Amino acid sequence: MSDFRLDTACVQGGYTPGNGEPRQIPIVQSTTFKYNTGEDMGRLFDLEDSGYFYTRLQNPTNDAVAAKIAALEGGTAAMLTSSGQAANFFALFNLAGCGDHIVASSSIYGGTFNLFSVTMARMGIETTFVSPDCTEAELNAAFRENTKCVFGETIANPALTVLDIELFARAAHAHGVPLIVDNTFATPVNCRPFEWGADIVTHSTTKYMDGHGAAVGGAIVDSGRFDWMAHPDKFPGLCSPDESYHGITYAEKFGREGAFITKCTAQLMRDFGSIQSPQHAFYLNLGLESLHVRMPRHCANAQAVAEFLQKHPKVSRVRYCGLPGDPYYDRARKYLPNGSCGVVSFELKGGREAASLFMNSLKLAAIETHVADARTCCLNPATTTHRQMTDAQLEAAGVPAGLVRMSCGLEAAEDLIADIAQALDQVK
Ligand SMILES: *Cc1c(COP(=O)(O)O)cnc(C)c1O
Repeated sequence: MSDFRLDTACVQGGYTPGNGEPRQIPIVQSTTFKYNTGEDMGRLFDLEDSGYFYTRLQNPTNDAVAAKIAALEGGTAAMLTSSGQAANFFALFNLAGCGDHIVASSSIYGGTFNLFSVTMARMGIETTFVSPDCTEAELNAAFRENTKCVFGETIANPALTVLDIELFARAAHAHGVPLIVDNTFATPVNCRPFEWGADIVTHSTTKYMDGHGAAVGGAIVDSGRFDWMAHPDKFPGLCSPDESYHGITYAEKFGREGAFITKCTAQLMRDFGSIQSPQHAFYLNLGLESLHVRMPRHCANAQAVAEFLQKHPKVSRVRYCGLPGDPYYDRARKYLPNGSCGVVSFELKGGREAASLFMNSLKLAAIETHVADARTCCLNPATTTHRQMTDAQLEAAGVPAGLVRMSCGLEAAEDLIADIAQALDQVK
Protein backbone atom coordinates (compact mmCIF):
# COMPACT_ATOMS: atom_id res chain seq x y z
CA MET A 1 0.00 0.00 0.00
CA SER A 2 3.00 2.30 0.44
CA ASP A 3 2.97 3.12 -3.30
CA PHE A 4 -0.53 4.57 -3.10
CA ARG A 5 -1.81 7.94 -2.00
CA LEU A 6 -3.32 8.42 1.44
CA ASP A 7 -6.85 8.48 0.02
CA THR A 8 -6.37 5.05 -1.48
CA ALA A 9 -4.87 3.69 1.74
CA CYS A 10 -7.93 5.00 3.66
CA VAL A 11 -10.16 2.88 1.45
CA GLN A 12 -8.08 -0.21 0.74
CA GLY A 13 -5.07 -0.20 3.09
CA GLY A 14 -4.30 -3.06 5.47
CA TYR A 15 -6.34 -5.81 3.84
CA THR A 16 -6.03 -7.46 0.42
CA PRO A 17 -8.39 -10.41 0.03
CA GLY A 18 -7.36 -13.46 -1.97
CA ASN A 19 -9.44 -15.18 -4.64
CA GLY A 20 -12.98 -15.78 -3.37
CA GLU A 21 -12.33 -14.21 0.03
CA PRO A 22 -14.59 -11.58 1.68
CA ARG A 23 -14.24 -8.11 0.13
CA GLN A 24 -14.84 -6.42 3.49
CA ILE A 25 -12.49 -7.14 6.42
CA PRO A 26 -14.02 -10.17 8.17
CA ILE A 27 -14.84 -9.83 11.86
CA VAL A 28 -12.95 -12.74 13.40
CA GLN A 29 -15.27 -13.20 16.35
CA SER A 30 -13.16 -15.78 18.12
CA THR A 31 -11.19 -15.53 21.34
CA THR A 32 -8.94 -18.41 20.39
CA PHE A 33 -7.28 -20.21 17.47
CA LYS A 34 -6.76 -23.91 16.80
CA TYR A 35 -3.43 -25.72 16.15
CA ASN A 36 -2.62 -29.26 15.09
CA THR A 37 0.27 -29.84 17.47
CA GLY A 38 1.47 -28.49 20.77
CA GLU A 39 4.82 -27.78 19.09
CA ASP A 40 3.15 -25.49 16.52
CA MET A 41 1.66 -23.51 19.33
CA GLY A 42 4.84 -23.52 21.39
CA ARG A 43 6.69 -21.69 18.63
CA LEU A 44 4.10 -18.91 18.84
CA PHE A 45 4.64 -18.58 22.58
CA ASP A 46 8.39 -18.29 21.99
CA LEU A 47 7.74 -15.56 19.38
CA GLU A 48 9.55 -17.88 16.92
CA ASP A 49 6.57 -18.00 14.54
CA SER A 50 4.00 -15.26 14.04
CA GLY A 51 0.40 -16.35 14.29
CA TYR A 52 -2.71 -16.06 16.38
CA PHE A 53 -3.46 -17.92 19.55
CA TYR A 54 -5.52 -15.64 21.80
CA THR A 55 -7.36 -12.44 20.91
CA ARG A 56 -6.06 -10.53 23.97
CA LEU A 57 -2.70 -10.49 22.15
CA GLN A 58 -3.66 -10.40 18.49
CA ASN A 59 -6.64 -10.91 16.21
CA PRO A 60 -6.70 -10.82 12.37
CA THR A 61 -9.42 -8.12 12.22
CA ASN A 62 -7.46 -5.84 14.53
CA ASP A 63 -4.22 -6.50 12.66
CA ALA A 64 -5.75 -5.54 9.31
CA VAL A 65 -7.10 -2.26 10.71
CA ALA A 66 -3.81 -1.54 12.53
CA ALA A 67 -1.94 -2.14 9.25
CA LYS A 68 -4.18 0.43 7.55
CA ILE A 69 -3.42 3.00 10.27
CA ALA A 70 0.32 2.23 9.95
CA ALA A 71 0.03 2.88 6.19
CA LEU A 72 -1.84 6.15 6.77
CA GLU A 73 0.82 7.45 9.18
CA GLY A 74 3.72 6.11 7.09
CA GLY A 75 4.85 3.80 9.92
CA THR A 76 6.28 0.28 9.96
CA ALA A 77 4.05 -1.32 12.63
CA ALA A 78 0.91 -0.51 14.61
CA MET A 79 -1.45 -1.96 17.19
CA LEU A 80 -4.99 -1.21 18.31
CA THR A 81 -5.98 -0.65 21.94
CA SER A 82 -9.34 -0.49 23.69
CA SER A 83 -9.19 3.32 24.04
CA GLY A 84 -7.02 6.37 23.46
CA GLN A 85 -6.15 6.34 27.15
CA ALA A 86 -4.76 2.80 26.83
CA ALA A 87 -2.79 3.81 23.71
CA ASN A 88 -1.05 6.70 25.46
CA PHE A 89 -0.40 4.69 28.63
CA PHE A 90 1.07 1.75 26.68
CA ALA A 91 3.21 3.98 24.45
CA LEU A 92 4.76 5.65 27.50
CA PHE A 93 4.99 2.60 29.76
CA ASN A 94 6.69 0.63 26.98
CA LEU A 95 9.69 2.95 27.52
CA ALA A 96 9.47 4.33 31.06
CA GLY A 97 9.16 2.53 34.41
CA CYS A 98 9.54 3.24 38.11
CA GLY A 99 12.33 5.78 38.67
CA ASP A 100 12.11 7.18 35.13
CA HIS A 101 11.11 10.59 33.86
CA ILE A 102 9.26 11.98 30.85
CA VAL A 103 8.93 15.46 29.34
CA ALA A 104 5.43 16.45 28.15
CA SER A 105 3.74 19.48 26.69
CA SER A 106 1.44 21.01 29.32
CA SER A 107 -1.19 21.58 26.63
CA ILE A 108 -2.69 18.09 26.33
CA TYR A 109 -5.99 16.25 26.82
CA GLY A 110 -7.21 16.34 30.44
CA GLY A 111 -7.33 12.53 30.67
CA THR A 112 -3.71 12.29 29.54
CA PHE A 113 -2.69 15.05 31.97
CA ASN A 114 -4.26 13.04 34.83
CA LEU A 115 -2.65 9.83 33.58
CA PHE A 116 0.81 11.44 33.72
CA SER A 117 0.45 13.69 36.78
CA VAL A 118 -1.52 11.32 39.04
CA THR A 119 -1.55 7.66 37.98
CA MET A 120 1.88 7.34 36.37
CA ALA A 121 3.32 9.44 39.20
CA ARG A 122 1.98 6.77 41.60
CA MET A 123 3.87 4.19 39.53
CA GLY A 124 7.09 6.13 40.11
CA ILE A 125 7.27 7.87 36.72
CA GLU A 126 7.78 11.61 37.03
CA THR A 127 6.68 14.12 34.37
CA THR A 128 8.02 17.60 33.70
CA PHE A 129 5.42 19.67 31.86
CA VAL A 130 6.65 22.37 29.49
CA SER A 131 4.70 25.03 27.64
CA PRO A 132 4.04 24.14 23.98
CA ASP A 133 5.47 27.60 23.27
CA CYS A 134 8.69 27.18 25.27
CA THR A 135 12.04 28.12 23.75
CA GLU A 136 14.49 25.42 22.71
CA ALA A 137 16.65 26.29 25.74
CA GLU A 138 13.68 25.90 28.12
CA LEU A 139 12.80 22.59 26.51
CA ASN A 140 16.38 21.28 26.74
CA ALA A 141 16.49 22.29 30.40
CA ALA A 142 13.58 19.93 31.18
CA PHE A 143 15.60 16.77 30.41
CA ARG A 144 17.30 14.60 33.04
CA GLU A 145 19.60 11.58 33.02
CA ASN A 146 16.56 9.31 33.43
CA THR A 147 14.31 10.94 30.80
CA LYS A 148 12.87 8.26 28.48
CA CYS A 149 10.68 10.15 26.01
CA VAL A 150 8.94 13.40 25.06
CA PHE A 151 5.18 13.70 24.55
CA GLY A 152 2.85 16.24 22.91
CA GLU A 153 -0.36 16.57 20.85
CA THR A 154 -0.31 17.82 17.24
CA ILE A 155 -3.43 19.92 18.00
CA ALA A 156 -4.20 19.88 21.72
CA ASN A 157 -7.67 18.95 22.97
CA PRO A 158 -9.24 21.27 24.10
CA ALA A 159 -6.72 24.16 24.12
CA LEU A 160 -6.24 24.00 20.30
CA THR A 161 -2.54 24.82 20.58
CA VAL A 162 -0.35 23.48 17.75
CA LEU A 163 2.85 21.61 18.64
CA ASP A 164 6.16 22.65 17.07
CA ILE A 165 6.91 19.03 16.16
CA GLU A 166 10.34 19.74 14.61
CA LEU A 167 11.51 21.59 17.72
CA PHE A 168 10.28 18.89 20.12
CA ALA A 169 11.78 16.13 17.94
CA ARG A 170 15.15 17.91 17.79
CA ALA A 171 15.29 18.26 21.58
CA ALA A 172 14.23 14.63 22.12
CA HIS A 173 16.84 13.31 19.69
CA ALA A 174 19.57 15.52 21.15
CA HIS A 175 18.92 13.69 24.43
CA GLY A 176 18.77 10.21 22.86
CA VAL A 177 15.03 9.66 23.36
CA PRO A 178 12.01 9.42 21.01
CA LEU A 179 9.19 11.93 20.50
CA ILE A 180 5.67 10.51 20.93
CA VAL A 181 2.90 12.57 19.30
CA ASP A 182 -0.84 12.12 19.93
CA ASN A 183 -2.21 12.88 16.45
CA THR A 184 -5.91 12.43 17.32
CA PHE A 185 -7.26 15.85 16.28
CA ALA A 186 -5.21 16.33 13.10
CA THR A 187 -5.43 12.71 11.84
CA PRO A 188 -2.90 11.60 9.19
CA VAL A 189 -5.10 13.32 6.60
CA ASN A 190 -3.99 16.73 7.89
CA CYS A 191 -0.60 15.96 9.48
CA ARG A 192 1.82 13.03 9.48
CA PRO A 193 4.08 13.68 12.48
CA PHE A 194 6.73 11.16 11.26
CA GLU A 195 7.47 13.52 8.36
CA TRP A 196 8.48 16.16 10.93
CA GLY A 197 10.67 13.90 13.07
CA ALA A 198 8.27 12.22 15.53
CA ASP A 199 9.10 8.58 16.30
CA ILE A 200 5.85 7.15 17.72
CA VAL A 201 2.27 8.31 17.03
CA THR A 202 -0.79 7.58 19.16
CA HIS A 203 -4.52 8.04 18.49
CA SER A 204 -7.81 8.09 20.24
CA THR A 205 -9.59 6.43 17.31
CA THR A 206 -12.82 7.30 19.18
CA LYS A 207 -12.64 10.72 17.50
CA TYR A 208 -12.30 11.45 13.77
CA MET A 209 -10.95 8.03 12.77
CA ASP A 210 -14.19 6.35 13.84
CA GLY A 211 -15.95 9.64 13.16
CA HIS A 212 -19.49 8.52 13.94
CA GLY A 213 -19.49 8.41 17.73
CA ALA A 214 -19.86 4.61 17.53
CA ALA A 215 -16.79 2.94 19.07
CA VAL A 216 -14.19 3.85 21.71
CA GLY A 217 -10.68 2.81 20.66
CA GLY A 218 -7.01 3.71 20.33
CA ALA A 219 -3.93 3.01 18.23
CA ILE A 220 -0.14 3.17 18.51
CA VAL A 221 2.08 3.48 15.41
CA ASP A 222 5.88 3.13 15.19
CA SER A 223 7.85 5.04 12.54
CA GLY A 224 10.48 2.29 12.69
CA ARG A 225 13.20 4.94 12.69
CA PHE A 226 14.31 5.27 16.28
CA ASP A 227 17.58 3.41 16.89
CA TRP A 228 17.05 1.82 20.31
CA MET A 229 20.37 -0.02 20.14
CA ALA A 230 22.21 3.31 19.96
CA HIS A 231 21.05 3.89 23.57
CA PRO A 232 20.96 0.43 25.17
CA ASP A 233 21.43 1.84 28.68
CA LYS A 234 18.34 4.05 28.32
CA PHE A 235 16.06 1.34 26.94
CA PRO A 236 16.94 -1.92 28.69
CA GLY A 237 13.40 -3.24 28.04
CA LEU A 238 14.06 -3.17 24.28
CA CYS A 239 17.82 -3.77 24.24
CA SER A 240 18.35 -6.53 26.83
CA PRO A 241 16.84 -10.03 27.14
CA ASP A 242 13.20 -10.36 28.25
CA GLU A 243 13.19 -13.27 30.70
CA SER A 244 9.40 -13.52 30.39
CA TYR A 245 9.95 -14.44 26.72
CA HIS A 246 12.86 -16.87 27.02
CA GLY A 247 15.52 -14.22 26.78
CA ILE A 248 14.45 -12.51 23.55
CA THR A 249 16.01 -9.08 22.94
CA TYR A 250 13.32 -7.18 21.04
CA ALA A 251 15.56 -4.63 19.31
CA GLU A 252 17.83 -7.42 18.01
CA LYS A 253 15.17 -9.91 16.98
CA PHE A 254 12.60 -7.50 15.48
CA GLY A 255 14.85 -4.60 14.44
CA ARG A 256 13.97 -0.93 14.43
CA GLU A 257 10.84 -1.60 12.38
CA GLY A 258 9.19 -4.05 14.74
CA ALA A 259 10.73 -3.92 18.23
CA PHE A 260 8.51 -1.28 19.84
CA ILE A 261 5.12 -2.70 18.80
CA THR A 262 6.18 -6.34 19.36
CA LYS A 263 7.31 -5.57 22.92
CA CYS A 264 4.19 -3.50 23.56
CA THR A 265 1.98 -6.40 22.41
CA ALA A 266 3.97 -9.22 23.96
CA GLN A 267 4.40 -7.60 27.38
CA LEU A 268 1.84 -4.86 27.96
CA MET A 269 -1.15 -6.29 26.09
CA ARG A 270 -0.36 -9.69 27.63
CA ASP A 271 -0.27 -8.26 31.16
CA PHE A 272 -2.76 -5.37 31.12
CA GLY A 273 -5.29 -6.49 28.51
CA SER A 274 -6.99 -3.44 26.94
CA ILE A 275 -7.35 -5.01 23.49
CA GLN A 276 -9.88 -3.48 21.10
CA SER A 277 -12.67 -5.93 20.27
CA PRO A 278 -12.68 -7.17 16.64
CA GLN A 279 -16.25 -5.82 16.30
CA HIS A 280 -15.02 -2.34 17.28
CA ALA A 281 -12.06 -2.64 14.90
CA PHE A 282 -14.58 -3.34 12.13
CA TYR A 283 -16.54 -0.17 12.99
CA LEU A 284 -13.29 1.78 13.12
CA ASN A 285 -12.42 0.56 9.64
CA LEU A 286 -15.76 1.76 8.27
CA GLY A 287 -14.85 5.20 9.60
CA LEU A 288 -11.34 5.06 8.13
CA GLU A 289 -12.73 4.29 4.68
CA SER A 290 -14.09 7.85 4.48
CA LEU A 291 -11.61 9.73 6.72
CA HIS A 292 -10.00 11.53 3.76
CA VAL A 293 -13.44 12.66 2.52
CA ARG A 294 -14.75 13.73 5.93
CA MET A 295 -11.77 15.70 7.31
CA PRO A 296 -11.82 18.49 4.68
CA ARG A 297 -15.54 18.98 5.36
CA HIS A 298 -15.06 19.15 9.15
CA CYS A 299 -12.36 21.77 8.54
CA ALA A 300 -14.41 23.79 6.06
CA ASN A 301 -17.39 23.87 8.45
CA ALA A 302 -15.18 24.90 11.38
CA GLN A 303 -13.56 27.63 9.29
CA ALA A 304 -16.97 29.02 8.25
CA VAL A 305 -18.27 28.90 11.85
CA ALA A 306 -15.08 30.53 13.20
CA GLU A 307 -15.28 33.34 10.65
CA PHE A 308 -18.96 33.95 11.48
CA LEU A 309 -18.28 34.02 15.24
CA GLN A 310 -15.31 36.35 14.85
CA LYS A 311 -17.58 39.04 13.39
CA HIS A 312 -20.39 38.60 15.94
CA PRO A 313 -20.80 41.44 18.49
CA LYS A 314 -21.68 39.06 21.38
CA VAL A 315 -18.46 37.05 20.94
CA SER A 316 -15.30 38.43 22.57
CA ARG A 317 -12.75 35.93 21.26
CA VAL A 318 -12.50 32.99 18.85
CA ARG A 319 -9.76 30.35 18.89
CA TYR A 320 -9.19 28.41 15.67
CA CYS A 321 -5.75 27.99 14.12
CA GLY A 322 -7.22 28.49 10.64
CA LEU A 323 -8.05 32.14 11.47
CA PRO A 324 -5.40 34.74 10.56
CA GLY A 325 -4.38 36.36 13.84
CA ASP A 326 -4.79 33.18 15.88
CA PRO A 327 -1.63 32.60 17.97
CA TYR A 328 -1.13 29.26 16.17
CA TYR A 329 -1.98 30.41 12.65
CA ASP A 330 1.62 30.41 11.40
CA ARG A 331 2.49 27.06 12.98
CA ALA A 332 -0.69 25.55 11.52
CA ARG A 333 0.26 26.83 8.05
CA LYS A 334 3.52 24.91 8.38
CA TYR A 335 2.31 21.65 9.94
CA LEU A 336 -1.35 21.63 8.82
CA PRO A 337 -1.39 23.29 5.38
CA ASN A 338 -4.56 21.49 4.26
CA GLY A 339 -6.61 22.16 7.39
CA SER A 340 -6.50 21.42 11.11
CA CYS A 341 -9.67 19.97 12.67
CA GLY A 342 -13.35 20.71 13.21
CA VAL A 343 -13.09 22.03 16.76
CA VAL A 344 -13.45 25.76 17.44
CA SER A 345 -13.55 27.47 20.82
CA PHE A 346 -14.98 30.90 21.57
CA GLU A 347 -15.85 33.14 24.47
CA LEU A 348 -19.15 34.92 24.95
CA LYS A 349 -19.07 38.44 26.38
CA GLY A 350 -21.80 37.58 28.90
CA GLY A 351 -19.74 34.88 30.66
CA ARG A 352 -21.20 31.74 32.23
CA GLU A 353 -24.85 32.89 32.01
CA ALA A 354 -24.59 33.83 28.34
CA ALA A 355 -22.87 30.53 27.53
CA SER A 356 -25.66 28.58 29.24
CA LEU A 357 -28.42 30.51 27.50
CA PHE A 358 -26.64 30.15 24.16
CA MET A 359 -26.13 26.41 24.45
CA ASN A 360 -29.66 25.73 25.70
CA SER A 361 -31.01 27.62 22.68
CA LEU A 362 -29.15 25.56 20.07
CA LYS A 363 -31.38 23.26 18.03
CA LEU A 364 -28.90 21.41 15.76
CA ALA A 365 -25.79 21.34 17.91
CA ALA A 366 -26.15 19.04 20.92
CA ILE A 367 -24.60 19.45 24.35
CA GLU A 368 -22.10 16.58 24.73
CA THR A 369 -18.69 15.91 26.25
CA HIS A 370 -17.71 14.21 22.98
CA VAL A 371 -15.91 15.86 20.05
CA ALA A 372 -14.96 14.97 16.49
CA ASP A 373 -17.87 13.06 15.04
CA ALA A 374 -20.37 13.62 12.24
CA ARG A 375 -22.89 15.54 14.41
CA THR A 376 -22.07 19.03 15.68
CA CYS A 377 -21.84 19.24 19.45
CA CYS A 378 -20.67 21.71 22.07
CA LEU A 379 -19.67 22.04 25.69
CA ASN A 380 -19.26 24.85 28.22
CA PRO A 381 -16.45 23.65 30.52
CA ALA A 382 -17.49 26.08 33.31
CA THR A 383 -20.87 24.39 33.83
CA THR A 384 -19.77 20.80 33.08
CA THR A 385 -16.22 19.35 33.08
CA HIS A 386 -14.77 22.22 35.17
CA ARG A 387 -17.85 23.05 37.29
CA GLN A 388 -16.00 22.72 40.61
CA MET A 389 -13.88 25.79 39.73
CA THR A 390 -14.59 29.45 40.53
CA ASP A 391 -14.59 32.06 37.74
CA ALA A 392 -11.12 33.22 38.85
CA GLN A 393 -9.76 29.66 38.79
CA LEU A 394 -11.29 29.10 35.36
CA GLU A 395 -9.64 32.24 34.04
CA ALA A 396 -6.26 31.09 35.40
CA ALA A 397 -6.68 27.64 33.80
CA GLY A 398 -7.29 29.25 30.41
CA VAL A 399 -10.95 28.16 30.27
CA PRO A 400 -12.90 31.34 31.09
CA ALA A 401 -16.50 30.91 32.29
CA GLY A 402 -17.98 32.06 28.98
CA LEU A 403 -15.89 29.65 26.87
CA VAL A 404 -17.74 27.28 24.54
CA ARG A 405 -15.99 24.45 22.69
CA MET A 406 -17.81 23.52 19.50
CA SER A 407 -17.01 20.45 17.43
CA CYS A 408 -18.29 21.11 13.92
CA GLY A 409 -19.76 18.03 12.26
CA LEU A 410 -20.60 17.28 8.66
CA GLU A 411 -23.92 19.15 8.36
CA ALA A 412 -24.39 22.09 5.93
CA ALA A 413 -22.34 25.06 7.19
CA GLU A 414 -25.28 27.40 6.43
CA ASP A 415 -27.55 25.41 8.78
CA LEU A 416 -24.93 25.37 11.54
CA ILE A 417 -24.41 29.12 11.25
CA ALA A 418 -28.16 29.80 11.22
CA ASP A 419 -28.52 27.70 14.38
CA ILE A 420 -25.65 29.54 16.10
CA ALA A 421 -27.08 32.91 15.01
CA GLN A 422 -30.56 32.23 16.43
CA ALA A 423 -29.04 30.92 19.70
CA LEU A 424 -26.87 34.07 20.01
CA ASP A 425 -30.04 36.14 19.49
CA GLN A 426 -31.42 34.61 22.71
CA VAL A 427 -28.42 35.94 24.65
CA LYS A 428 -29.16 39.39 26.12
C1 LIG B 1 -10.20 11.70 23.63
C2 LIG B 1 -8.74 11.81 23.62
C3 LIG B 1 -7.91 10.89 24.28
C4 LIG B 1 -8.49 9.75 25.09
O1 LIG B 1 -9.08 8.83 24.23
P1 LIG B 1 -10.28 7.83 24.67
O2 LIG B 1 -10.52 7.09 23.41
O3 LIG B 1 -11.42 8.68 25.14
O4 LIG B 1 -9.73 6.98 25.76
C5 LIG B 1 -6.55 11.05 24.19
N1 LIG B 1 -5.99 12.07 23.49
C6 LIG B 1 -6.75 12.98 22.85
C7 LIG B 1 -6.10 14.08 22.11
C8 LIG B 1 -8.15 12.89 22.89
O5 LIG B 1 -8.89 13.81 22.26
